[in-house]
Parts: sequence; structure tokens; C-alpha cells
Amino acid sequence: MSEIRLDRIHNKYVLIAPERLHRPSLGHHFTKNRSSFTCPFCDGNEALTPKEVFAMRDNEADSPSWKTRVVPNLFKAVQIELEDISKRDGIFESIPGVGAHEILVDSPSHEIDISYLDKESIENWLRTIIIRTDDLKNDKRLTSLSIFKNYGHNAGATQEHPHTQLLALPIIPRNELVFLERNIKYYHRHGRGIVEDTVYNERIAKTRILDEVGAFVAFCPYASSFPFEVMIAPTKSIASLNKCTRKDVADLALLIKKVFEMLKAQLGRFDYNLFFQISPLNINFQTEKYMNNIDKSYTFTLRITPRIYRLGGFEISTEMAINSIIPEECAKLLRGD
Ligand SMILES: [Zn+2]
Repeated sequence: MSEIRLDRIHNKYVLIAPERLHRPSLGHHFTKNRSSFTCPFCDGNEALTPKEVFAMRDNEADSPSWKTRVVPNLFKAVQIELEDISKRDGIFESIPGVGAHEILVDSPSHEIDISYLDKESIENWLRTIIIRTDDLKNDKRLTSLSIFKNYGHNAGATQEHPHTQLLALPIIPRNELVFLERNIKYYHRHGRGIVEDTVYNERIAKTRILDEVGAFVAFCPYASSFPFEVMIAPTKSIASLNKCTRKDVADLALLIKKVFEMLKAQLGRFDYNLFFQISPLNINFQTEKYMNNIDKSYTFTLRITPRIYRLGGFEISTEMAINSIIPEECAKLLRGD
């Protein structure tokens, strides 16, 4: 059974998920020869996964011929059924791992990663994330939703078929909580959230901007943690992906497509993590003081971090990144100047 434990020394939560030990190992499942195993995420193999929670399709559930498909994670880090009651044992404190862990299979194709998908398929992927976000939000116990992709060995992927993970939890992770606190103070002082102000200043500086489509801009952040790191953000405050209009989604899909084209031109096929940072799903004891102004103070972001190098002891012990390439140089190379 999974639980969320409080690390008092570092004041952060840790998800203890013993079930995840049984995940297929990288060496075992990553093979060039597809006939040697049957991929549960490929079209036609729907019987190999738990029943789908959602699919973009015109036909019956759990049958072939879909565009995107969402299933509960077999090796789930959290379980939705558990009671959300915190436990205390002396100084030690934990919350059972209440939540949802879902796998979104990006497309039926085993080989085609998001960086090779067409614009329509990226739009379907975004719309699927929005539909699942709206649904998970209905469970009032859930407050944070992490939406992320691990692609390739260096990024921690254990399943080759391109997919996205949605992990909803009853608590806000510490770094996000610290951000919410700093952000609301900043908003009260400046009338703009930190992300909105950063985007505003990046657009004035121009040197790190890659491209803009509609209300979205892509840039290499001033203090990027990773070489060729790219952030995509709205130029107006939109707190969460599910607050985007249909046109916003189409524009965002096109910008994602353009950014991956730039990255591929420089890096070839590369390992990466991709994650969305969105506003909290619901009000709870941690988030109530931030939720009043959330639509004005919070701007969601999408970050793509190519994983060219592995992290070392310095990064883990200090939480400080060492980036060997200047972000302005990365932007220049990506733009093809
Ligand atoms: Zn597959």
C-alpha cells in the first residue's frame, strides 16, 4: 500500500509506493525487436491493460482504432479507493496514498513520439489531458495534478510506447506550495503573477524567444536548469490548461510542434522530460489562501527539458543545477540564426 510521508528534515513529502518496484525493468522491455514482446499500449492490445477511463474514439470502449487512450496505471503509485486520513506516530507523519495515477497513451503508434506527431494528434493529446483534468477535479479530495512525460532512458522511462502520466494527489508538493506562497506575495505587490511578469520581460528582452503562436510564446528560460530547456507559456494569465479555449488549444499544439521541430534539428532523437505546471485542482487546507485570486495570479506553463546529461550528487544534494550551455546560445541555435 502506498503512502505519502513527510520528510521533516527537508520539509517535503515523499511518495512511498512499493508497488512500483514491480514495474517492467528498462533492460527487459526496451528492445528493438518488437516481436519479442507484446506492447500493452499498441492498437489491438487493449485487453492487456485495465479497462480504459477515457479514449478519443468513435467506437466501443476497449476495442482497437482510437486516437488517444487513458488507462489506470497498473503499477500505480497511488490508489483512489483509500481513505484520506493522516496518521501520526511520534514525529513521523503520513497520509495514505489517496489519488489517481493514469496513463495517457499519446497515439496508437509505438514508434511515433510526440516530437513526430502531426498538429491534429498533438491537439487530441492536449484535449485528452483537459478532459481528464476536468474529471479528476470532480474528486474534491484531489488538490494537485502532475502531468508529465518521461521519454527515453535518461528521462526515466520504463515503457517504450510514448505515453503521458497524470498523477493526482490530496496534497500540494512542497516546491509548488513554496511557489504559490511566493507568487501570491508577488501578485499583491505587482498586480501580476511571477510567470506572467517573466513572460512579459522575456518578450521585451527577445534574445531567448523561439516563437509565438496566438496567445502562446516559447522561450529558453533566463535561468534554464538544462541545456536546450524550453518553456511554453500563455502571454495572458491562464491558470490551467483546462481553462484554454478551443483556439488556444489549436495554437498551443502548433507551437509545441514547432518547438519539437527546432529541438530535433539540433539534437536529433533525444531523451526528455515534459511537464505542465497548473494551478491547484481544488481548495483544501493548504490552498485556500491562494484560490481567491488564482485566475489572475497564476499562469500555467509547459516545460520541455532535454536530458542530455545525467544528474549527479551536486544537483541532488543542493537542488542547484549545473547547465553547461548559455540559454541565449541555445535559443540562437534553435532559431537557426
Ligand atoms: Zn506499443
